[in-house]
Amino acid sequence: MSTRKNWRPARSIDTIRAEVNAAAPKRSTRSDGTVGDLAHSNRDSDHNPNEAGVVRATDLTHDPAGGLDCNQLMDELAAKLGTHPALGPGAYLIWNRQIISTDRLAEGWRRYYGVNGHTKHCHVSVARRASGYDSTQRFGVLVPIVRLPASPSLRGLLEDELEAWLHAMPLDSRSDAGRAAWAKVGRLRDAIAKYSVAQIERQIAELDALVRATPLRKPKTLAGRRRAAYHARQVLRIVQEKY
Ligand SMILES: [Zn+2]
Repeated sequence: MSTRKNWRPARSIDTIRAEVNAAAPKRSTRSDGTVGDLAHSNRDSDHNPNEAGVVRATDLTHDPAGGLDCNQLMDELAAKLGTHPALGPGAYLIWNRQIISTDRLAEGWRRYYGVNGHTKHCHVSVARRASGYDSTQRFGVLVPIVRLPASPSLRGLLEDELEAWLHAMPLDSRSDAGRAAWAKVGRLRDAIAKYSVAQIERQIAELDALVRATPLRKPKTLAGRRRAAYHARQVLRIVQEKY
């Protein structure tokens, strides 16, 4: 059994806490916790060090006024279950009497029957394996909403890149994924016109995933795919560097 003295948080736990603290420096930490207190140690084992002396869980206090809204954080993390390395097998989230886990992702959020309903703090447990729990990849949560200024030239630039991207990518629009991708393009145009950088980034990521899943019209379109990837990066670069 590991002793309490000899433990460290998983690196991904440090990462998520750093991101949350950066986004909400004045937040309350009243119900925060990493290593197990007595109450946790009986029923919430990820707060106790694993065999390697690593704690794979953290509690974060719900403090919307202080900048940490657990509803938002849980939504954002749940969307990354199974894709972020730290949110691989073994990872789960608990908030407000509900739980969602990577291992049972298809069931979505389900009722949590634990003694502590987690109504004042949300709980994050990261992946079981070291390659997951010690990942230092950013989560990209609680990113401050930055409104795009109404700069016609910048919007024009973005739209040009988007256009080039789409022309380079000969999508088969008869496939379901192809139709979904074209619909997404419309929403991305709207996003460029009126939404925030974070929303645009999300739309681009979703479009990129759809594009990857879409069969191409012709087999000899590798060059097109490369060009498309280039323009997609340009769109992202413009969004990220300018704001
Ligand atoms: Zn907990």
